[in-house]
Amino acid sequence: MTHRIYYTDAYTTEFTSTIVERSEDGTRVYLRESAFYPTSGGQPHDLGTIAGIEVTDVVDEEERVAHVLARPLVDVAGDVRGTIDWARRFDHMQQHTGQHLLSAVFEDLFGFKTISVHFGPESATLDLDAEIVTRKQMLVAEERANAIVAEARPVTVSFEDAATATGLRKASDRTGTLRIVTIADADRSACGGTHVRSTAEIGVVLVRGLEKIRQATRVEFLCGQRALRRARRDYETLISIAGALSASIDEAAGLVGAQAERLKESESARKKLAQELAVYRMRERYDAAPPNANGIRVVVIRDAASADELRALAQAALNLPRAVVIGALSNPISVLLAASDDSGINAGQLLKERLTAAGGRGGGGSRLAQGSAPDTAALERIVADLVNAFG
Ligand SMILES: [Zn+2]
Repeated sequence: MTHRIYYTDAYTTEFTSTIVERSEDGTRVYLRESAFYPTSGGQPHDLGTIAGIEVTDVVDEEERVAHVLARPLVDVAGDVRGTIDWARRFDHMQQHTGQHLLSAVFEDLFGFKTISVHFGPESATLDLDAEIVTRKQMLVAEERANAIVAEARPVTVSFEDAATATGLRKASDRTGTLRIVTIADADRSACGGTHVRSTAEIGVVLVRGLEKIRQATRVEFLCGQRALRRARRDYETLISIAGALSASIDEAAGLVGAQAERLKESESARKKLAQELAVYRMRERYDAAPPNANGIRVVVIRDAASADELRALAQAALNLPRAVVIGALSNPISVLLAASDDSGINAGQLLKERLTAAGGRGGGGSRLAQGSAPDTAALERIVADLVNAFG
């Protein structure tokens, strides 16, 4: 059984211990005591060195803690020295104690229970048993958590019998001795993680956002240096957005909104103009096409820049007397047939027949139909067929 130094002292960064066992290849080592925190309870494992060799993973094997090394540890006589990567560990301590504090505050203020937590490399999250958490509640909780940080309340660890331990935020289903982490006058939680000794050491608690996850709400947060680094990055992003707009960062949001509005307006104006232009262009081609024996003018369009443009031209033709439009596009390989009301032609039916014969697919209504052909040769056959159909 490994004696876990971090259970009673999260601040030990160097220790000496004895190897009690190691794997045959020497890369998995067990010590009599260890300050290395193994991945558990959502908190990631520590990094550091043992006998100068990098520790790449620390595994909780219930009774024992396994240290996975970057290279084999061999020929070690006597004790080995372990060192913990303190920057990483302290960061985890800040996030973890910050999580206990936030969970307690959300429950205390609004009755929202924490149902799960996750500590990621960028930010941490906790899931609240609440379908709706408002932004206002989020900000109130953030403010309250930071007020408790400023009060520098002690965070202590005690070992209590599960049968008699009271006042826990979440009842534990364990029996025997519980390790209880207490934030004075704020929280008591059964937890095996590493924690700071005062809420002051959590540093700033930044709640970044809320996300609805089924019946729960996920709260993203960052504590201490992480919060500062994230805020710095957000600020740099904001500066570059403001710079692109030649505005101050305080004006940026308003300007982005106004520009989006203008973009929408000019897009609809552009669409309107494109439709008007299509009417003129169609009229020109229609006038140039000689009517056939039935008085129908057939316009073949092969130079449309896009399916949208082709469609706009076809729509314009529907308002002209006895007009038929046959359109072909090579990318994507597609064909269009449009016929005005008084042409006596059912575009959907006619195109469908030709498409089916050529191995293509598609269809549409009696006025406008579209389809795709398997290849250019088939497309050419369909177009020629349609042109022939109108003599
Ligand atoms: Zn915990």
